Amino acid sequence: MKVLALILSLLVAFPVWGNEPARLDIGGSALVATGRGWGGPQPLELRLSLTKAVPYRSYLVDGPPRLVVDVKDTDFGLARPQDLFGADLAPAIRWGPYREGWSRVVVELPGTYRIDSAGQQARAALSQITVALAPVAAQDFAPRPSATAALRDLPEPAELPAQPGDEGFTVVLDPGHGGFDPGALAEGESEANLVLVFSLELRAALQARGITVEMTRSDDSFVALERRMTTARQARGDLFISLHADALPQGQAAGATVYVWNPAADDRAAEQLSLRHGRDDLVAGADLTGHDDALTGVLMDFVRTDTQPRSESFARWLTSRMSLMGIGMHERPVQRATYSVLKSPDIPSVLLELGFISDHDDRANLLNPLWRGRMVQVVSDAIVGWARDEAARAAMLRQ
Ligand SMILES: [Zn+2]
Repeated sequence: MKVLALILSLLVAFPVWGNEPARLDIGGSALVATGRGWGGPQPLELRLSLTKAVPYRSYLVDGPPRLVVDVKDTDFGLARPQDLFGADLAPAIRWGPYREGWSRVVVELPGTYRIDSAGQQARAALSQITVALAPVAAQDFAPRPSATAALRDLPEPAELPAQPGDEGFTVVLDPGHGGFDPGALAEGESEANLVLVFSLELRAALQARGITVEMTRSDDSFVALERRMTTARQARGDLFISLHADALPQGQAAGATVYVWNPAADDRAAEQLSLRHGRDDLVAGADLTGHDDALTGVLMDFVRTDTQPRSESFARWLTSRMSLMGIGMHERPVQRATYSVLKSPDIPSVLLELGFISDHDDRANLLNPLWRGRMVQVVSDAIVGWARDEAARAAMLRQ
């Protein structure tokens, strides 16, 4: 079937190669779910509409599972992956030129898949590449084992972008509460202790993957909120994760929840921050000395314009990995809030409620080393995937 599709696509493609590059028609392109997932990932189909037929190839890679489609002589112009219809079905999509004469589309998959079929159809002045993906069990996932191209004369896939660890990639872990502030309490357990235990386990897992980890506290001591943010800036953190396990009123849904900053509160936050901090301490690389507070606010908004979507992207990485690993989530797993520790304008930040200490099941999970191990895996996979995606995006922006 795959061979037939390849032959068909080549037959279609060869007669119409010309000198003008093909262009992506984003309006005619989509990522669509083609069936029910029955609790797991759904079958997906990627449709790329181009202004003419071009040679292409599609394959799967791992770490995390991704679909790669390389297309020859195709100009993606200013089309943005997040504008692709159905882009939210995948944790991340990116595209752009990667080697002379070739462009690449990378779709981060919400699970393990196989390529069911791949083909190219030319209709009138348009051509559509269609790659159908069917979910498979993890043990049946067969990613391309090496970067070696299957066909001669086709380029090697581009080298992976910088991995966490390569460029001093630093994660700041912020176990909530501590010292005289135990946080929430239930059945003899304290939030401060549970989140510290989890954070120390997460630190070990991240360090084992070559990631630099800074902690706002690594023992049972009190650290003021502002001090936590200052630690993150001094460490030149690339990502800030505050960890909590608060209590919640009886009857409310429990489960893990990710909070990101609520940008609606920016004006007020900018005002408060500029009053409390030395200004040049706030925004790395922007000298704000001598500017008035209004301009400081504007510059901070400008920085946050980039930071906010990066925080939200990381939140999606977390929830998609939690879903994959069967971690119970709150009914609204990503929420916006105005927690002080999420205020850093230049460091993507999330607050992760691992669960709620007041909920019997959540508390049992937090006390269970196996559950914690799964959650540590979720968070570290999300960090690695997100960081790789960020590096690719940054590389693309530099071109
Ligand atoms: Zn808390």
